[in-house]
Amino acid sequence: MARPVDIRQASGDELGITWEDGHESRYTWQFLRASCPCAWCNDLRIKGTSEYIAADVRPSMVSPVGRYALSFDFSDGHSTGIYSFEYLRRMCPCLECTGSEAGPSPNPLPEGEGFAGSSPSRLPGGEGPSGSGSG
Ligand SMILES: [Zn+2]
Ligand SMILES: [Zn+2]
Repeated sequence: MARPVDIRQASGDELGITWEDGHESRYTWQFLRASCPCAWCNDLRIKGTSEYIAADVRPSMVSPVGRYALSFDFSDGHSTGIYSFEYLRRMCPCLECTGSEAGPSPNPLPEGEGFAGSSPSRLPGGEGPSGSGSG
């Protein structure tokens, strides 16, 4: 069970959480708003029609929900999301948690281009005398 030992606004536009295992997570408000776990937003994400999230969205209030979650009153009026600590920890965007490294990746990406599906048509004027003329 993920439990935070410290929750603070790391900078003006970020939420910082230090977990009991010493790990530190940082979430921008826009990221949190876009990751809202409420049924409404979840439904939008499934349909792929997520609403536009302003870059400067921020909560007017951060409230604890019991001892297991946080809720945010976002400046765009949305406040129905309950962000459990487990959910927050799982979506930690840091490099360690996402497994991606900064800088060029050592493995070149496989190129998948070239399968356009067009069948080769007959080349114009390609029929010439064939055969080496045995005789
Ligand atoms: Zn929501
Ligand atoms: Zn992390």
